[in-house]
Amino acid sequence: MAEDTTTKATDMDQKTFKAEIQQLLNILIHSLYTEREIFLRELISNASDALNRLQFEMLTKRDVLDPEAELAIYIEGDEENRRLIIRDTGIGMTAEEMEENLGTIAHSGAQQFMQAMKEAGQEAKVSAADIIGQFGVGFYSVFMVAEEVTVTSRSYRPDAEAAVWRSTGQGTYTIGPADKADRGTTIEIKLKEDALEFARPHRLRQVIKEHSDFVAYPIYLLEEKFAEKEEEKGKKEWTQVNQQTAIWRQNPKEVDEEKYKAFYHQLTLDFGDPLLRIHTSADAPVQFYALLFVPSKKDYRLFGLKEDYGLKLYNRKVLIQEHFKDLLPPYLRFIEGVVDSEDLPLNVSREAVQSTPVLSKIKSALTRRVANELKNLAEEKPDTYRTFWREFGGFIKEGIATDPDSKDKFVDLLRFPSSRSENEDDLVSLAQYVGRMKADQKEIYYILGDDYDVTARSPHLEYFRKHDLEVLFMTDPMDSFMLVTLTEYDGKPLKNVDDAGLDLPEEKAGEEKPAEALSDDEFKALVARVKQVLGDRVEDVRDSKLLTDSPCRLVNPPDAVNTTLQRVQRLLDKEYQIPKKILEINRRSELIRNISARLSANADDPLIDPLVEQLYESALLSEGIHPNPAEMLPRIQLLMEAAARMK
Ligand code: ADP
Repeated sequence: MAEDTTTKATDMDQKTFKAEIQQLLNILIHSLYTEREIFLRELISNASDALNRLQFEMLTKRDVLDPEAELAIYIEGDEENRRLIIRDTGIGMTAEEMEENLGTIAHSGAQQFMQAMKEAGQEAKVSAADIIGQFGVGFYSVFMVAEEVTVTSRSYRPDAEAAVWRSTGQGTYTIGPADKADRGTTIEIKLKEDALEFARPHRLRQVIKEHSDFVAYPIYLLEEKFAEKEEEKGKKEWTQVNQQTAIWRQNPKEVDEEKYKAFYHQLTLDFGDPLLRIHTSADAPVQFYALLFVPSKKDYRLFGLKEDYGLKLYNRKVLIQEHFKDLLPPYLRFIEGVVDSEDLPLNVSREAVQSTPVLSKIKSALTRRVANELKNLAEEKPDTYRTFWREFGGFIKEGIATDPDSKDKFVDLLRFPSSRSENEDDLVSLAQYVGRMKADQKEIYYILGDDYDVTARSPHLEYFRKHDLEVLFMTDPMDSFMLVTLTEYDGKPLKNVDDAGLDLPEEKAGEEKPAEALSDDEFKALVARVKQVLGDRVEDVRDSKLLTDSPCRLVNPPDAVNTTLQRVQRLLDKEYQIPKKILEINRRSELIRNISARLSANADDPLIDPLVEQLYESALLSEGIHPNPAEMLPRIQLLMEAAARMK
């Protein structure tokens, strides 16, 4: 390589790494023997960032050193001397910037890696090798393979001086001035003995293809020429290894499946394949290209790190921002991908990009497109859609709750279990529900609950089951939030089954009620006793019109805040007191008749009060609002003892 990187040894300053870096280095050096190759991805990615930043400076017409130099990355292995050299013509660093950037953990990936290592260490389940691929651990990963690293750099500012940084990764590093005439950064690595493979061109080619194929700048590798003539044998030349294609700018017909997948893997570091891909472009009202993906699952990063969500925003292939959050509404933050638009004003600042109307146009076009593609997925690949819904359904509900304007676009994506489901995974859409509503049914019924099994046993469902009216199960905490804004579908109101004023279809004439029921007097006496026992824990105690088998249920008084809002309140504030309910009693239930009989026979019967208490608390449990179910145990014990005594 025609590079002069001699240092002036006399001016070198020795410094000590920050403690956190030393920790990181210790992990990288001592506990990682697999996946070491990712160090190259990290260095290439740094070089690519440096080129991006340089390109940005050039576009904004600042003065730069060597404006003619090709924006590229050069990689050269030297097996004989166990060396590897990576050079870029990017933005470069001054001595101060080296001190700042290579002496502290600036990057969040490295910090998250350390945090994850700590957690993993406590659980002793995961090793560094398992998780390293999921984090950009950055520059320091070079010490997995390096005995010594020398970074020589010259900043793009025409008057800046070159500098050199050197370290063995053992506690200290030195910084000093250097002779380097051209712009950019050269990293020279003295490889460890067991890392010699990374000096071999064919191994380097393989690693570059695998991890950095879509880097936007050419990556040249110094390789031996294929030679026919004897005198040319052993000659080396620079060849470009990466595809370097902005595949989002290609015609989808020209991109094959494997290429999309490879791009996705390199973009996200997700091992799985994406559930959905959206490749689209538009010319009006704004010009843009977009390539978006729904990941394989929600937590495809082992530790669920997704604060750095957002799409990559490009302008004419120049990366403007890595995690741009304003291209999709926040509830679609699970989507990964790239957007490239020529209509963005680039020559202003990066911050100004946020306030341009172009962005809001792209955003609404993309949001619509995502909704449509998901609808298609549901129709064409129901199994994949089920996976999508399991992983990301909560985000769609969040969207309906938080973005009334887009509600209509997403409402058909909703899926719920219902009273007709075989099991929890047997889901129905609102359109399907409406399609199978009974002829005289005017409302869409739903029931709130904490989980599927408890909800499926709720006494509220009895009437609806008996009359073959389907009820949707809302058992996800997000459902209550969503129901605040989702009050109707297809012109039909959504109604909670515990709503006191339901517009239920007429009872058919001749539909008989079970004969045996308590007389009015007996019932009155029982109600009086129940009121006395429960006191002001209930709003009222009254007869039930809807129950057939269950002894009782709790309903919401007509003037109270509806149960959905109560739930939202309770999720937001643990101290929130749920308003008192009405206890409805079924005078035809055998249990109720037996309690009433005990009361008529002997008002002092010691079992009556515990039976009433238990009746009420079982109802609380079935509503999912019992504050402390364990408190019921002594009473259940007492009732069991009494039952066991009976012959
Ligand atoms: P990051 O994830 O921020 O790249 P690194 O530890 O890999 O974290 O690098 C730290 C910083 O060092 C970078 O943010 C960048 O400012 C600087 N840096 C690293 N490599 C280069 C390079 N090839 N050219 C210019 N600056 C670089």
